[in-house]
Parts: sequence; C-alpha cells; structure tokens
Amino acid sequence: MESFISKNRLVLGIIAGVLLGGAVGSFFPEFGAGTQIIGELFLNALKMVVLPLIIVSVTLSIMKVGNLGSLGLKTIAYYAVTTAIAVSIGIAVVTMVQPGDGSEMLKGTMPEVVKSKEGFKVTDILRQISTPNLFESAYEFQILPIIIASLLFGIAFGKLNKERQLVLDLFESMDKAIMKVVHWIIALTPIGIFGLIAGKIGEAGGGDEVLRLAMQLGKYVFCVLLGLLIQGFVILPLLLRALSGRNPVTYFKDLSESLLTAFSTASSSATLPLTITNVTENAKVSPKISKFVLPLGATVNMDGTALYESVAVIFIAQSYGIHLGGGELVVVFLTATLAAIGAAGIPEAGLVTMVLVLQAVGLPIEGVGMILAIDWFLDRFRTTINVWGDSIGAAVIEKLEPDENTA
Ligand code: ASP
Repeated sequence: MESFISKNRLVLGIIAGVLLGGAVGSFFPEFGAGTQIIGELFLNALKMVVLPLIIVSVTLSIMKVGNLGSLGLKTIAYYAVTTAIAVSIGIAVVTMVQPGDGSEMLKGTMPEVVKSKEGFKVTDILRQISTPNLFESAYEFQILPIIIASLLFGIAFGKLNKERQLVLDLFESMDKAIMKVVHWIIALTPIGIFGLIAGKIGEAGGGDEVLRLAMQLGKYVFCVLLGLLIQGFVILPLLLRALSGRNPVTYFKDLSESLLTAFSTASSSATLPLTITNVTENAKVSPKISKFVLPLGATVNMDGTALYESVAVIFIAQSYGIHLGGGELVVVFLTATLAAIGAAGIPEAGLVTMVLVLQAVGLPIEGVGMILAIDWFLDRFRTTINVWGDSIGAAVIEKLEPDENTA
C-alpha cells in the first residue's frame, strides 16, 4: 500500500487537485475565481519551458534518427488516419442524434478573435508553416515554424563532420537541464491544477451555472462527448493494441498525469512537458522517437478538435434549419481535418479555425456564438483526447520504426 502511494503520489495529488478545485469552484465561486492566479502562475511556468524544450527535443531527435524520411512519413500517416477517423465519428454521431433539429436557437456574442478571422482560408493554414521571423513566432507562441526550423538545424548539425559530436553533447546536456526544470514544475502540478479548475468554474459562476449551460445545449454536448468517448476509449486503444502491442489500460495509467493536465489547462502545447515525461519515463517509449512525434503532435495532431469541429458545424447548420447534403458533408470532412491541423495547441483555438469549415459550406460565422458559452468546457475534453492521440502515436511509431532507429 505504502509503495503504491509513493509511486502514485503525483497522480493522487493531481486527482485531489481536480476534485478540490471542482468543489471549491462549484460551491464557493467567488473564492474559486480568486485562486485563478495560482493556476495562471503554473500555466506560465509550463509555457515558459515549452519553447526551449521543443527546440532541444526536436533538434536532438533529428540528429539521432537515422532515417528522418521514414519517421516523418509514418508520423504524418498516423496523424492523418486518426484525424480522419475522428472527423468521421463526429459526422456519424451528429447526423444520427440530430442535436440541432427543432432546438431553440441560442444567440450569443461572437468573440473578436473569431470575427477577425472572417475570410480565413486554407492558404492561411499553409502560411503557418514558414515564418520570416522566428522570434516573432516564439513571441506569438506559434510552434509549427519553430519545429520546422529545429528540424532543419537538426539535419544540418547531423551532417557536420568533426563538430557533430560537440553539438550532440551540447544538446544532450541542455536536454538534461531542461528536463530537470520540467520535473521541478511538474512537482507543482497538483496545486496548479487546483487553481486552474477552481478558477475556471468560479469565473463561470459556479457548478450550477456550468450545469445549466451544459443542459441548455445538452444534445450538442452529448454528441461531442459521445464522439470523444468512442475515439478515446475504443478507436485509439484498439490502434495502440493492434499496432504497438501495448496494453491500453497500462498506457492510460502511465499517461494519467498528462491527461489530467490537458483537461485542466485546455492546452496541448502547455501539457507537452508532462506528455514527454510520461511517455518516455513511465511508458518507456524511446525518447528519440517521442521527442519528435510529441511536439509535432501537440501542434498538428488533434483528434478531439477534429471531431468537435465536425459536430459543431453540423449542429449549427441543423439549428439554422439548413440541410447539408452528401457533397457538403465531404467538404465538412476535409475542412474540419484542415481546421484541426491549423488549430494551435492553446485554449479554444478550435473555435477560431472553425470559421474555415463554416465558410466552406456557406454557413454564417455568427453561428459560432451559439456554442460559445459552453466551448471552454468542451475544450477540456477535446484537449485530453488530443494529448491521448499524440501519446498513442509515439508508441505506435516507435513500433513501426526499424530497431536501429529506436535505440
Ligand atoms: N485547446 C485545444 C488544444 O490545445 C485546441 C482546441 O481544440 O481548441 O489541443
């Protein structure tokens, strides 16, 4: 019993943080809202370490991996297939349940950030791949160009002759130091998560208010959660079992700290330090593979977001009384996939890129206002599935890569 407790102390602490935060935010909303600062400090600490972590992890991983082409292709293929499955589940569930049919139209204000995305195009997503200024990207927390630059430098460092070992040693040392800082921050997770949960529920007006909102959009909330449940607890575990041979229950336990953190922060990118630690240290997936697969996944692979985008858009269409035909559903399928790839790993990013899907099928972007009030709540569930999908990706790719690449 004692060894169980000491081994799982952090997870137990995080669960206590979630429950206590939930209770304080629900029953003492004002006090809960006041604890938001604790959550903010914790979130900032995580975000602070994310950029150095990504730069060093990706560069190091690329320097060590023999065959980047094979690793890159397999990673992209895994991400594409799981995202496509997620969108299909979303479309199937929302078409069967029809949450928007006959529902009372809910009006809501449209956030500025969504309004400013009017005219958002596929090329705007492509544009995120490159940047003229890496510092500006870092300042704006745009991770994709940072990953791509690290990738390029990693390849170049790997091609140096006598300096290669020097650079490798330097990056190995930086990696060790960064992971030390990550562990210090992780030790604070229970208290940080308490602040995040209590603060958010308190800010939303307490447990009753959250419940009232969830009930108001009950069928829509049900569709999103049901879809996420199928993706997270049926499809992804089956893929993990079939492609990596791992036991999904054990893997889930190994990942529990990062999944709870994803739920509390609603940010895949901020959760990345925990995801890397859990995948490499608890689940013992090769760091060489995971330190490439996970940063990329946190940025572009979003199963939960993809599923939610399709459910939300079709729900909005149904509420407007607009029937989407087969061709339009194909457009939703394609654009929801792109919108999920284009969404940053930060809170409610999916709500913003949804503009792309709405516009593609000719729906008014004001429709976003209908689901806005409950979006922060659903964001937590979809982010958890996003991180779960990335983590399973690391185990799957490790297995699919030849042995000489995974030492
Ligand atoms: N919050 C999500 C994430 O960080 C993105 C989104 O769906 O809004 O993974």
